[in-house]
Amino acid sequence: GGDNMISEKMYVLGSKQSCIREIFEFGLKRKQQVGEENVFDYSLGNPSIPTHKQVDNTITGLIQEGNSLMLHGYTPAGGDKRAREAIAEDLNERYGMNISSNNLLLTCGAAAAVIASLKAIAVKDSEVIVIAPYFPESPMYAESSGMKLVTVPADTEAFQIRFDELEKRITPHTQAVIVNSPNNPSGAVYGRETLCRLGRLLEQRSAEYGHPIYIIADEPYRELVYDGAEVAFIPKLYANTIVCYSYSKSMSLPGERIGYACVTDEAEDSHELLLAISGASRSMGHVCAPSTMQQMLAHCVKLRPDVEAYDRNRRTLYDALAEYGYKCVKPKGAFYLFVEAPGGDAKEFAARAMRKDLLVVPGNEFGCPGHFRLSTCVSHDMIKRSLPIFRELAEETQA
Ligand code: PLP
Repeated sequence: GGDNMISEKMYVLGSKQSCIREIFEFGLKRKQQVGEENVFDYSLGNPSIPTHKQVDNTITGLIQEGNSLMLHGYTPAGGDKRAREAIAEDLNERYGMNISSNNLLLTCGAAAAVIASLKAIAVKDSEVIVIAPYFPESPMYAESSGMKLVTVPADTEAFQIRFDELEKRITPHTQAVIVNSPNNPSGAVYGRETLCRLGRLLEQRSAEYGHPIYIIADEPYRELVYDGAEVAFIPKLYANTIVCYSYSKSMSLPGERIGYACVTDEAEDSHELLLAISGASRSMGHVCAPSTMQQMLAHCVKLRPDVEAYDRNRRTLYDALAEYGYKCVKPKGAFYLFVEAPGGDAKEFAARAMRKDLLVVPGNEFGCPGHFRLSTCVSHDMIKRSLPIFRELAEETQA
């Protein structure tokens, strides 16, 4: 860009692709060169379960009703009342909460909810804690909200939380901890014990410093769990929580941009906090969340995904990799496997895999450089066909 004409920061964000995107686009190019069936792309977390028929039918029905001005019009900034009531009712039924439409703000996905939440609590010298491995966009959200990013190194044994490291990093400036469970990229689900311990620690420090330290629960994968894993509703364990939810993954609707932020009445300054999140959204040009999706939700919030296909992929891949000697904590949620790189250097491993047209994402951008991520929202057939390459790569490392 020309001198002083363009923000350097924004230019870098726009021009520098994420490592994941770069790998994905390399894959597209290779597919043209060597054929679709010869490239094994595990890079992107794009849902591969078809959107539920009832979602599509509801949207079609809404269009056929013919009230297009209502359907496509602006909604209140916080969201359509019926959609918010339906979400509140569903949360109350599932988690025994007492949430009303006033506790909810509909957003363009979890991404928008997280950044608005951060901006809402960013005051002078604020710090926000992110736990590795983390969603690579989180550090950028923290920094662009004007907060100082503080990262906690990964617990590579179980991908829970290293409390010894977390405790050292909480200061009087800490405003929030971002918690992402089920986790991208590890697939770990934080157990009740982990969350209760986190809650107790934050309660203690909040009392000590005289201000709340919020949990920002970034949870687009809440419904994607396996082996009967439980995803606790964090506000139930720790009142000062901002839930940032998304229908991107649970309803396979990532391009439609719909989710919400939720703060219960039990949170400190609940009402003011929600207004600040709303104000932060407004300051970024949020007018309302997509209206058709809001109205669809009024009818469909109770639908749950059929995760059988993701589960089958997870089991096939996990079992095969374990057999070949890879080390991986078996994921209980989301649609990723996070595997220790044979040889210890994930970038080197990813490069070696890439030469065999097997595309994996090194953990560096997730704050965990010794591991690589596999997205399991792919076809089962591709997994089967890729297994010999994983075996070869493991054998090469040992040789
Ligand atoms: N948070 C995490 C942990 C994610 O993995 C993703 C998407 O992959 C997002 C947020 C963004 O989701 P959304 O489409 O709801 O903005």
